[in-house]
Parts: sequence; structure tokens; C-alpha cells
Amino acid sequence: MDRRSFLKRCAHVGTLGALAKRRWRDGGLDVRVWLSERAARRDGAGRRAAEYLALAFGAVRDDVSVTRGGTVAVGHEHGYEVVRSGEWPGALAAGLAGEGDVDPVDDVNLLVTDGPMADAPTGMGGAHVAAVGGARHLAAMPPADEVGPVVPYSTPARVTQVLLHECGHALGLSHDHGTVERRGEAEVATPMLSSYAWTDGGGDCGCGTAARGDGDADRRLSFRFSDRAAEAISAYDGETRLPALRE
Ligand SMILES: [Zn+2]
Repeated sequence: MDRRSFLKRCAHVGTLGALAKRRWRDGGLDVRVWLSERAARRDGAGRRAAEYLALAFGAVRDDVSVTRGGTVAVGHEHGYEVVRSGEWPGALAAGLAGEGDVDPVDDVNLLVTDGPMADAPTGMGGAHVAAVGGARHLAAMPPADEVGPVVPYSTPARVTQVLLHECGHALGLSHDHGTVERRGEAEVATPMLSSYAWTDGGGDCGCGTAARGDGDADRRLSFRFSDRAAEAISAYDGETRLPALRE
């Protein structure tokens, strides 16, 4: 789908614009994590999301604050549909207007649902907005401080990396900020490329120039952003390109 047809489908581009035009208040990088009601039933999912976000962004900047926003009732239990439909951006926009219970932060507002993760797209991110599915898999992850920065490919690890990926989009990063690197017998994909590294044509991601793995090596996933992504995250000052929703 090209960008124009995507925009026609997205009823809430205006609300994303409202989020993006907020003035940057404090100069720190603020990330807040909400859970859908079903995600909230997966013990540990929200805690794991916050831990892995704090480690990944904390490895790049020392002004990162990751907070929990609570539980949100949503009709779309799907990390992609809840954004594409405008439901999550709309809830954030309502919060900005002082309506409802959602209190957005300036930088990354992530909703974790328990939506399916088998087929892409499984999540979406745009200026200051992100969502991902797979809460049940996040709940299966060990505490972040017990895990190294690079792990063998598994569904829980992939879901955790997709979570970082969508939050990268919320800061304006693209798939070109991702890498796949050979390390011995293994190939390591960083969050902004993620398992698109091993997907023919990159699925629907539109990331034609991104690096590609060769498919034969051991697949490993990194929970740290690539150097190029880290540079962009370091340079981020509250502005993102708009509209830039990505899967
Ligand atoms: Zn993406």
C-alpha cells in the first residue's frame, strides 16, 4: 500500500498531528506503556515491556523515563488494527483534550494488546504513537536484567523486539535504521529491522532499502538499537516527521 492510500484509510491522521505538535516540555525522553484489558490479564506483560524499553532506550540516552499508564478498554485487540482504525490515536488525542483516563506523554505512547503475532502486521507506530500485540509472549520473557542484549530467535523474543521496533517508529525511525549482521555462524537483527531481515520482500513494510539476512545462519535478535538508530534516538528532540505510520 502506498502512503497516500494509507492516509485515506486512516481516519485519525489529524489526531496524530495534534500529538506531534505538542511542545516538548522537559527535554527528557518519556515513554509510557498501557495495557489492553486482555493484556492486563497476562501476568508480567506490562512489567516486561517497561523493563526491556528502559534497557534499550537507556543504553542510548541517560534521560529516559519509562512509566506505566494503566489499563485501557479497546475494541481492537490487535496491535496493528488498534492504531490503523484510529482507536488508540483517538484515545490519546482525547487524553490531550482532557477527556478520558489516558494521560499521554510527549514522546512514546505504547499500547500493548494481546493481539495475534503470527502474521504481520502485528503492530504499528507513528509520531508518538505505538501499539503491539502478543502480551502472552511478553509475559513469557524472563526479567530483562537476566537476559543478554542478543538472544536466539524465539516468539517471545521476537514480540519483545517488535515492541521496541514500534516505539522506534514513534520517534520517527524507519526500517533503514535497522541492521542484520553476521557474527560467526549467527545473524543478528536489530530492532528496527527485526524479523523483516528474514522475510522475502519485507512483507508489507515498504522497507526496500533495508539490509537482508541470507536465511541460512542462526537467527538471533538484539534488544539494542543499531548504531545508526542510536544516533537518531540521541538526536531526537521531540520532533518527528509526519505522518509516518509504519508497521
Ligand atoms: Zn516497522
